[in-house]
Amino acid sequence: MAQKTIAVLTSGGDAPGMNAAVRAVVRSGINRNMRVFGIYRGFNGLLNGDIEEMNLRSVSDIIGNGGTMLYTARSEEFKQKEAQERAADFCRSKGIEGVVVIGGDGSFRGARALTAAGINCIGVPGTIDNDIACSEYTVGFDTAINTAIDMVDRIRDTAQSHDRCSIVEVMGRRCGDIALQTGIAAGATAILIPEVEYNTERDVIARIVNTQKTGKKHFVIVVAEGVGHVGDLAKYIEQRLGIEARATILGHVQRGGSPTVRDRVVASQMGYEAVSLLDQGLGNRVVVMRDGKITDLDINEALDMERVFDDKLYKVAMSVSI
Ligand code: ATP
Repeated sequence: MAQKTIAVLTSGGDAPGMNAAVRAVVRSGINRNMRVFGIYRGFNGLLNGDIEEMNLRSVSDIIGNGGTMLYTARSEEFKQKEAQERAADFCRSKGIEGVVVIGGDGSFRGARALTAAGINCIGVPGTIDNDIACSEYTVGFDTAINTAIDMVDRIRDTAQSHDRCSIVEVMGRRCGDIALQTGIAAGATAILIPEVEYNTERDVIARIVNTQKTGKKHFVIVVAEGVGHVGDLAKYIEQRLGIEARATILGHVQRGGSPTVRDRVVASQMGYEAVSLLDQGLGNRVVVMRDGKITDLDINEALDMERVFDDKLYKVAMSVSI
């Protein structure tokens, strides 16, 4: 049988663990006697011919590194049909039959378009936000929440020493998972996330006042980026309750750092699975985690899914941080 040739790219926002996924694709491919190319800077690499053949050692010493050795990009150009056809022609010219696309749901739309243009693509969920409806888990999330809790713990130390209220904004525009899990882990007095409508008096002020009554003197409030306005909230708390309040936006620190064991392992499993699907001649699929297991779904089905918010976890947060 002719030797298969595949390629791998990372697209959208970077996430810790992307390198582990790239490594898994390269090594499982070579292990199956495939040729494997790395495509640089997302879909742009296919438009600019920016690719390189990988060998087993090309991905040495990257499993513990944050970011992505293939770099990542957002490519507006690739959203055009003409560009997708050009990218598919480029793949054919290099003998590339399949591409593993590591990124968020925007990247999966790109993978669907490239499959429609004739090159089988498999998506692997890589984004710190955990905001992909079809998968319970996205590579990068565990590292991001561990970084966030480390930062919030530090902020909490100083909040405690000054009897202060610290309001911390963490990443998550549409998805509050980073805020919810960090908030629970930090014992936050209030957690504000985009999935749950809030009322400042009821969900922040009353919660602070209630804990003050039982003797608490310092407070941590965790707010998702999608809710925002942490500076205004700090000012409001100061005026309303007369306690010192400070806002901190964690920002891009949450994207970096060495991936956790969980991210390295899940990325390795997902990368391996993606190559196995390409080896079976399959395309237009995404590798996902469902019920704790690694499996795969049709991309169209995956992109049509609506995220299910974990109400129970939110209830837990509200019940234990009092
Ligand atoms: P993150 O969740 O980190 O933002 P993402 O993969 O959702 O990651 P996007 O910026 O939405 O990030 O998409 C990444 C890239 O995927 C885009 O820049 C573009 O190249 C490609 N892409 C997105 N949507 C489409 C589409 N409808 N058709 C073709 N390509 C697309």
